[in-house]
Amino acid sequence: MKTLQSEALFQEAQQLIPGGVNSPVRAFRSVGGTPRFIDRGKGAFITDVDGNRYIDYVLSWGPLILGHAHEAVVQAIIETASRGTSYGAPTQLENELAELVIETVPSIDMIRFVNSGTEACMSALRLARAYTKRNKIIKFAGCYHGHADMLLVQAGSGIATLGLPDLPGVPAATAADTLTAPYNDLDAVRNLFEQFPNDIAGIIVEPIAANMGFVLPQNDFLQALHDLCKQYGALFILDEVMTGFRAATGGAQALWNLDPDITCLGKVIGGGLPVGAYAGKRDIMQHVAPAGTMYQAGTLSGNPLAMAAGLATLKALLVDGLFDGIKKMTTTLVQGMSQAAQLAGIPLQIGSVGTMFGFYFLKTPDAFISDYASAKQVADTERYARFFHAMLEKGVYFAPSQFEAAFMSSAHTQTDIQATLSAVQSALVQMATH
Ligand SMILES: *Cc1c(COP(=O)(O)O)cnc(C)c1O
Repeated sequence: MKTLQSEALFQEAQQLIPGGVNSPVRAFRSVGGTPRFIDRGKGAFITDVDGNRYIDYVLSWGPLILGHAHEAVVQAIIETASRGTSYGAPTQLENELAELVIETVPSIDMIRFVNSGTEACMSALRLARAYTKRNKIIKFAGCYHGHADMLLVQAGSGIATLGLPDLPGVPAATAADTLTAPYNDLDAVRNLFEQFPNDIAGIIVEPIAANMGFVLPQNDFLQALHDLCKQYGALFILDEVMTGFRAATGGAQALWNLDPDITCLGKVIGGGLPVGAYAGKRDIMQHVAPAGTMYQAGTLSGNPLAMAAGLATLKALLVDGLFDGIKKMTTTLVQGMSQAAQLAGIPLQIGSVGTMFGFYFLKTPDAFISDYASAKQVADTERYARFFHAMLEKGVYFAPSQFEAAFMSSAHTQTDIQATLSAVQSALVQMATH
């Protein structure tokens, strides 16, 4: 496989941009090798600058649920851009996207659009603190909620991938208000509430912990968290930046019957343009300025291009049967990968919810990953790196890290899934014998 152009661009980029990338995991640090510089994408495929084509299961880390350059999305962006790209004044598009999200997610009465998931989570916390007049928050080890100071404590995603030391640049005083517990450990959360019964503004949690790989909530973990919040007067903040419109059209909360106080959104609702949102109950959202006194603003927030791309994406996605089709494709791939691993005698923990999936290579066959500690301990990152490169060689693009999830789009076909499965089979057999 030729990678000369990518290598040259990466050399240059490293002189210009720290690590050569504008977001750490893109740099291939944990799997080695040269990141592919992408020239274009269409449907389920991306093509790099050397002309190599890959079936894409990263999909810009989740947003592209219709695949790359979907006609309706591109058309919406072009039409909107031709009338101007930003006004710093309200537009009808914002109402339309707000209405569509509110209709689709029952727990949401009102929504505020921002420019990224980071901003969404950061603002949701400020809102919870303003509403409860308390300072402490609880997050879970290995969960990622963007890179705001107080949310980087024991965070997943690139921090997990790179094994970075916690928190250079984050003031200790800021981190001190962030309490952490292991994912799926209700007792640990109960202990924190008992220790600080009047100080906790809220819990923020990923309904599927998909920034430390792919960890599912066990039993009624999420509902029990919400119950604890109610008991202690704290808010339950569900970070659905990744799972929103992906775990189910109504998000993970629809799937598991949750009624969070605040929901964070991003990724899919921007259809591939920079977007985030925090949303929830009317009496809470009314605290946001200028309706209330909690301040949060943005020059480009709710900008027409992002709103148009999000609207076009959600409208297409909500057409009958489309989501279920993507989900079915996801299940087929995951079952096939599981069988291939069994046949090759390679221990693999794999699962899916809706249109997202994830898998770990395990160091021992009887291991099970349910939180960040077990993920770090028993996930075989070396084996993942070999798998990743074998798949890349065969034209399949998975995340360049063991600690990230994978995504399906409506553009992926049975043929793509079967091609992926034959590549998986031969990669695993290759690995089993080496
Ligand atoms: C991606 C992600 C974020 C951060 O969103 P950005 O747009 O990258 O800032 C926050 N929370 C979760 C669960 C995410 O997956």
